[in-house]
Amino acid sequence: MVADIIDGKAFAGRLRERVATVAARFERAAGRKPGLAVVLVGEDAASRVYVAAKGKATIEAGMASFEHRLPADAPQGELLALVARLNADPAVDGILVQLPLPPQMDEAAVIAAIAPAKDVDGFTVENAGRLATGLPGFVPCTPLGCLMLLKDRLGDLSGLEAVVIGRSNIVGKPMAQLLTQASCTVTLAHSRTRDLPAVVRRADIVVAAVGRPEMIAADWLKPGATVIDVGINRLPPAEGESRGRLVGDVDFAGASAVAGAITPVPGGVGPMTIAVLLRNTAVAAYRNAGIALDENAL
Ligand code: NDP
Repeated sequence: MVADIIDGKAFAGRLRERVATVAARFERAAGRKPGLAVVLVGEDAASRVYVAAKGKATIEAGMASFEHRLPADAPQGELLALVARLNADPAVDGILVQLPLPPQMDEAAVIAAIAPAKDVDGFTVENAGRLATGLPGFVPCTPLGCLMLLKDRLGDLSGLEAVVIGRSNIVGKPMAQLLTQASCTVTLAHSRTRDLPAVVRRADIVVAAVGRPEMIAADWLKPGATVIDVGINRLPPAEGESRGRLVGDVDFAGASAVAGAITPVPGGVGPMTIAVLLRNTAVAAYRNAGIALDENAL
């Protein structure tokens, strides 16, 4: 079997077009663009790249981008005061504080300061609880993007066996919640799972969010399984390379011969994360302004 490639980049492009259309409609109705504020603390190189990419994508979708930078040694109080100002600012619909934060800051306390109605990353306890109990809220961008790709590929997920590998608050746990809501039979695996290959082998859907390069081998997969690879790992540079290759958590070459469909890295889940962030920001704008929007069509 040769797996179909799930083209997350193309899907994300179509989602961004739909977001741009609803953002333009919002601007006509509300007299302002939907606004996303991104806060970067310190000079972490990867975080700077992510923040720049998010700002560019926000503007391309016809939304307002507000970027705030604080020095790496800023006291936590300064960040909390900034978040409070953004919570109160009517031009800001979504607030994203780029993680990780410097060690003097308490991430949980900073996330807790974000107004749940503007928490477009879905990281607050309020939104995590809403997801867990099936209430509307904001769902973390990466797992929501994975769910969109799965539904696009498989249609109704009801009754399918899903194995999620990794139990972080930003990917694995919300992914398991979303698949449960979609009526899959879900196993949430982690570093203490016994005989992980046997657990993965029963899955119709595998979502890998571990952070270990090419850990999931081809012979762990049930033939025909749909594989979503969230991992982004940079290998050490091979001879003659200045930078190592990016790979996922799944052995892509091997898995492609067994799976029914698989996301590549790069070009799979990664582009979905930013597109869903834009989607969540547009949804926040409509909700905060009390303007009707068919969120399921987005
Ligand atoms: P975390 O480090 O927070 O979580 C990793 C999880 O993997 C943990 O639950 C851990 O288990 C589990 N794990 C570690 N080793 C093993 C193992 N040998 N067997 C089984 N489970 C294991 O990572 P994140 O969830 O934040 O990210 C996961 C990956 O996804 C990373 O590569 C990250 O870069 C990528 N990522 C990609 C995004 C995208 O946009 N494409 C967005 C976010 C993340 P335990 O809890 O027991 O320690």
